[in-house]
Amino acid sequence: MKHPIIGIDLGTTNSEVAVVQGGRAQILDVDGAKLLPSVVGLDDEGALLVGQSARNQYTLFPERTIRSVKRRMGEDAHLPMGDQSYRPQEISALILKRLKSAAEQHLGQPVEKAVITVPAYFSDAQRQATRDAGELAGLEVVRIINEPTAAALAYEADHQGARTILVYDLGGGTFDVSVVRMTGDVTEVLSSHGNNQLGGDDFDARLIEHVLAHLRETQDVDARENHGALARIQRAAEAAKITLSDAPYARIDEEYLLEHQGRPLNLSMEIERGEYEDMIAEFIDETLEAVHIALKDAGLSVADLDEVLLVGGATRTPLIQRRLEEVLGMPPRAEVNPDLCVAAGAAIQAAVIGGDQVASVLVDVTPYTFGTSALGELDGMPYPHVFVPVIRKNTPLPTTKSEAFQTIVDGQSQIDVHVYQGEDADALNNTEIGAFRIEGLGDVPAGNVIVMTYALDVNGILEVTAREKRTGLEKAITINNATARFEADELDAARTRLSALIDGEAEVVVDGAAAAPIDPEISERREVVQARALAEKAERLMSTATAEDKEDLVNLIESVKDALSDNDIPALERTVTELSDLVYYLES
Ligand code: AMP
Repeated sequence: MKHPIIGIDLGTTNSEVAVVQGGRAQILDVDGAKLLPSVVGLDDEGALLVGQSARNQYTLFPERTIRSVKRRMGEDAHLPMGDQSYRPQEISALILKRLKSAAEQHLGQPVEKAVITVPAYFSDAQRQATRDAGELAGLEVVRIINEPTAAALAYEADHQGARTILVYDLGGGTFDVSVVRMTGDVTEVLSSHGNNQLGGDDFDARLIEHVLAHLRETQDVDARENHGALARIQRAAEAAKITLSDAPYARIDEEYLLEHQGRPLNLSMEIERGEYEDMIAEFIDETLEAVHIALKDAGLSVADLDEVLLVGGATRTPLIQRRLEEVLGMPPRAEVNPDLCVAAGAAIQAAVIGGDQVASVLVDVTPYTFGTSALGELDGMPYPHVFVPVIRKNTPLPTTKSEAFQTIVDGQSQIDVHVYQGEDADALNNTEIGAFRIEGLGDVPAGNVIVMTYALDVNGILEVTAREKRTGLEKAITINNATARFEADELDAARTRLSALIDGEAEVVVDGAAAAPIDPEISERREVVQARALAEKAERLMSTATAEDKEDLVNLIESVKDALSDNDIPALERTVTELSDLVYYLES
């Protein structure tokens, strides 16, 4: 490489360095990892620590450790560290220096130039301080670019036509949302809004409070006073938060957390995803308000957006993705690793400045959604084959996701698990790629929790495990070639298979963990299943209906049942429509 220009994301929590090689952006390892914690410190002997080692000592020795220096850039501040104090630019320069030498090691040659990203809201003084930090680190900063612009470049390096993109960036300690317009070679930030005191660290703080309250209530202990214990709780809280992005429960187990009344105290608790989501809901609401403000400032509405991109580690939180999809009406894109896409975009910009050809960032993602089926509601009616996605389309690979389900009858001893690939809300319209039965479940009341785990690797091998949470009893299957794309004739074959299934020629067993007892009777098409469910629902309404409505209900339920027993599909459709109208009326 002639004169490599590196791309740097100098972040509040973590920093990354990337370079374009062979036309593609590559994130480089620094100390064996892609993310370098943006933390600088001095050890016991006064030696410099940058990155993970500095981060590790932060809670114990805050007086000789500096983190989140990005928040102070552009201020005339003197930050104490050990016996001395340092300007924000100097501390940032130490981080940049570490990134520079990692790049030099990787490329085997000196690096003197960089593109560095900054938040769109950074003032001139903050941008200048960033340039100065670069120079102190021995880097000529050939360009400062906005983080949302870099993210858009990472997704759309080879874009065509004009696009309006919303970039939602939630990192460890900062949040911002920007509306970016890409037209040909010009990328422009139309508006940007946010809160530079909001991020994943606030989610950790809520979990820490929750753990401390648990210790107070169950052990009558205030762990706040004990620095060592607090540091362990902090670390465990962040780990639990990350687990809850992929699983419905997270355990926190810390042995000998502290000594209390002369005895060692162990911390052992479980946090449920729903409980955690309630803790952080207000933060998410605040970010969604910012989304609307940014759109308003850009003079646009939701309908003008072509794409929503996620940036920042905290956007892996499923609640964020769900709420954004609800509000914006399209699934946000997160295929380019949200921690790394700003650095990748900076490297792409650097390559363009250096006159190199670049393609967009290539990532392995699943082209399909995978999930199971369970009893739920479809079109407002109870339906036993509702598709429950577990791994969603475009998730980067490898990935492991789990979801919790519950049995619905007392003493349910077995469950048939069906594994589907597809996007339809009705599982029967998707392709079934595997099935298995888990038997020997405990003789307990309905509500027995079964955790389903889907692990999909880059080779398309999908392993599905069903596990009884109480006992750990589990059963798994492995499905090869889960992500193999259908060829045209395979697609036809699949369609035929599906229509056979829908026409009731193939046996369909009531599915899924949430599903009912295995009932071999139910092997008909969707209309039949729905009609039965509707008739049952109508029967339940009888007790509260007026005499007149009751008579109508009885007549219509009878007509539906007659149509069912005569297998008269046109009559069934007609009577189901009438009955569902009446049920709708009675329920509203
Ligand atoms: P960033 O500043 O973009 O590196 O983001 C760092 C923040 O993302 C920290 O608060 C991390 O704890 C958080 N984070 C990283 N991975 C996940 C995850 N899988 N789920 C939720 N938060 C995460």
